[in-house]
Amino acid sequence: MVMPTERPVLVAGAGPVGCITALALARQGIPVHLLEAEARINDAPRAATTHAATLEMLDELGLVDEVISRGLIEPKFRLWDRASREVIVEFDFGALANDTRFPYVVQCEQHKLANMTIDRLRRFAHVTVDFSTRLASLQQRDDRVDAVLEGPSGTRTVSGSFLIGADGGRSTVRKALDIPFEGYTHPERFLVLTTTFGFDVEYAQCSRNYFSDPDEWCALFKVTGDDGAGLWRVLFPTRLEETDEQALSEESVQGRLQKFFPKPGPYPVVHRNPYNVHQRVAASFGKGRVFLAGDSAHVNNPLGGLGLNFGIHDAVELSALLGRVLRQEAPAAILEQYDRFRRPLNVEYVQQQTIANKKRLEEKDPALRAQSNAALRKTAADPAAHRAYLLRASLIDSVRQRAAAAQA
Ligand SMILES: Cc1cc2nc3c(=O)[nH]c(=O)nc-3n(C[C@H](O)[C@H](O)[C@H](O)COP(=O)(O)OP(=O)(O)OC[C@H]3O[C@@H](n4cnc5c(N)ncnc54)[C@H](O)[C@@H]3O)c2cc1C
Repeated sequence: MVMPTERPVLVAGAGPVGCITALALARQGIPVHLLEAEARINDAPRAATTHAATLEMLDELGLVDEVISRGLIEPKFRLWDRASREVIVEFDFGALANDTRFPYVVQCEQHKLANMTIDRLRRFAHVTVDFSTRLASLQQRDDRVDAVLEGPSGTRTVSGSFLIGADGGRSTVRKALDIPFEGYTHPERFLVLTTTFGFDVEYAQCSRNYFSDPDEWCALFKVTGDDGAGLWRVLFPTRLEETDEQALSEESVQGRLQKFFPKPGPYPVVHRNPYNVHQRVAASFGKGRVFLAGDSAHVNNPLGGLGLNFGIHDAVELSALLGRVLRQEAPAAILEQYDRFRRPLNVEYVQQQTIANKKRLEEKDPALRAQSNAALRKTAADPAAHRAYLLRASLIDSVRQRAAAAQA
């Protein structure tokens, strides 16, 4: 049943968060206009880890079976000491078997999620998807939002009942609302090297691995790749004095990989991508009829795989609130809950956790490293503490906290 609203909800950005927001609205019968500046979904290697709480939401949206079939199920993750090659600790999401239908993560690359969502959106007559269309500016009115779009046929203005800026960390929407992006940028960059080399021999028992090291920590993950054959991503920090050109040179790339895991012959490297890494949260997640979701509202380092997961939770919550308002089941005043609840949840569950994860991997003080490792081992060895740790790491706790606030 399509809702007889005068104007669609505008969604700027067809990253995974914009796509999921559009789908969650469309499934309620709400007309949606999704705009993407680029000609196609960005397939750079970014998020892959999809946690239990998010898998439950994707299940509600009819996406989880495809995410699982195109991804890789991994119940465990390991923290290693890089120098000694010893496993410090292993966590197993199987401990959450009584908490979730999905006691594991699924490694499914974010471009696959966005593309499968676009396929679903194209089946709705009340959804318009425009690629190569950039939101340039916006104007809030009493009863609508006007957005100026730049597309293949020039500049035009469209109106929406609401506008959601899912337009990434450099968000035009956030800037147009003049909302500060508070926090900091790490001085180093993160380098993702993707290889077809089969690390499976060494890491068959677990495909999510973090290696702590005072000089150069790293992380190793498996994804299925577009052909399903499997790719491994190795993540390193760059050195402060290193330019991108130096970090991306063949000599440096091979040197880093060989130092991590010496092998005969060069590594076949299919992608080499540097990323700026930030810990920032927008001072507000919305203003008037305009809201921010995903990276436009919050960015964090990728250690723990939380940024996109939380962005998908934004999408689900915001679309549910908007649905209630557009169906006139609740007054527009309920929309303030979006900022009131999601902003502190991001600080508590995503910012704090990812900052702690990075600090643990790079700690230089031997006494602090030993203390942190001992504490983690103790947590993993105690079944109740193990479960509690994973409830937080999988964002199940943040969803429960939000649900409890709704009941209060
Ligand atoms: C190396 C790496 C690994 C990561 N791993 C994980 C992980 O395992 N798990 C996890 O949860 N997160 C992870 N993340 C974070 C995750 O990639 C981001 O949180 C995610 O991309 C956010 O999605 P988004 O849709 O909000 O923004 P984006 O993916 O940045 O999409 C924004 C979209 O908006 C478009 N756009 C921009 N401006 C405009 C405009 N003016 N008009 C129209 N369109 C516009 C852009 O072209 C883009 O398509 C990782 C990040 C990195 C860098």
